[in-house]
Amino acid sequence: MSLPFSYRVHRILFRIRERLYPAVCAVCGEALEAPGALCPTCLGEYRRARLFDCGQCGKPLDSCACSTDTLRKARVRRMVKLFRYRAGHEQSTESKIIFALKHKNLETLFHFMGKELAEALSRVISEPKESLLVTYVPRTQGQITANGYDHARLLALALADAAGLSFCRCLARRSRRDKEQKKMDSYGLRVKNVADAFCLARGCSCRGKRVLLVDDVVTTGATASECARVLRREGGAKEVIAVSLSVVPHNVNPLLENQDKLKRK
Ligand SMILES: [Zn+2]
Ligand SMILES: [Zn+2]
Repeated sequence: MSLPFSYRVHRILFRIRERLYPAVCAVCGEALEAPGALCPTCLGEYRRARLFDCGQCGKPLDSCACSTDTLRKARVRRMVKLFRYRAGHEQSTESKIIFALKHKNLETLFHFMGKELAEALSRVISEPKESLLVTYVPRTQGQITANGYDHARLLALALADAAGLSFCRCLARRSRRDKEQKKMDSYGLRVKNVADAFCLARGCSCRGKRVLLVDDVVTTGATASECARVLRREGGAKEVIAVSLSVVPHNVNPLLENQDKLKRK
């Protein structure tokens, strides 16, 4: 497996820092008694969020690799995900985890989520490791400047590290000012916004590989679809598999929703 040298250095520095400073919970900020990413309460909430069914196929999220309609049109037929994104639940542990990944740059959280993704991956993707390659949906330069880092990149590196897979920065943003997807309401606007937003990065080695495309949230799938097209058409990837912490389910079956409510009680 190959991981960038800079990432190895980053991991060593992290281990040193971990010994010097007390760890805090990424969600609530409480000091942790044992090393980790989340306090027992927040970890319990996170585990509960993972008990939800997929929302699209009705299977438990753990054993489902189903993709969204939009992604299927871009021939992305498999997607690995950890939990459902629930609009209007900004105070939920899931939403706070995503917020922390974007804004807090906590190595413990990336490490934890990388392991969680690796475990989910091993349950639904059975191809040999040599045929798989991890990459990510790059943020815009504006987002990287504002946050100081690209959280999708760090998440993809943490996954590659935990799963023992190769990592490659396959995609680059074209240097035009595309707006942030989350500010667009409709699917049509999102598709227009990302059309031609990505190109193949120099030195990309995805030819013939099954590429795991990492992102934090898949909303409409417009961005991931565009990336998948570039990876297949320009990069020669054999398959693109979406890997996301969270997915916004479409066509949610109301009966499944009721089951979810019961589970939550
Ligand atoms: Zn906590
Ligand atoms: Zn499913």
